[in-house]
Amino acid sequence: MPDYDPNNIFAKIIRGELPCHKVYEDDRVLVFLDIMPRAPGHALVIPKNAARNILDVDPDDLAHVARIAQKVARAGMQVFDADGITVQQFNENAGGQVVFHLHMHVIPRKENVAMKPPATEKEKPDVLADQARRLAAAMQTL
Ligand code: 5GP
Repeated sequence: MPDYDPNNIFAKIIRGELPCHKVYEDDRVLVFLDIMPRAPGHALVIPKNAARNILDVDPDDLAHVARIAQKVARAGMQVFDADGITVQQFNENAGGQVVFHLHMHVIPRKENVAMKPPATEKEKPDVLADQARRLAAAMQTL
């Protein structure tokens, strides 16, 4: 497996070199909205420590990512009046991974509504800002 690239997009977001629509942050994880959501409220949960994917991540970081993904899922159910949640996590090119910093997708779903294909279109920044604000508020109640 290739080495972790500290200049990947998510590493730059963690360092504050690129912007994101932040939903939640603690000392170990950052949660923000996917810029090309497959459904409204599509969030990404990432560890702050360097990890390419599930193959090299520290198990405690992975556990915390999963713990926070559960909170994001619960918040997404409330905020988007969802009927379900899809969680996805891809590893290496053959596994569907495009950005090589570990991330868990948390995607609110409505009954009988298909997800958009990956990377279909960028969501408007004001829509993402509003959704991030509502998800962040819901996270605080959980
Ligand atoms: P994966 O690596 O799991 O296949 O997918 C990477 C995800 O990152 C995609 O869903 C894509 O839309 C998202 N993404 C790519 N570039 C950016 C970015 O600059 N900002 C944000 N917030 N998401 C991104």
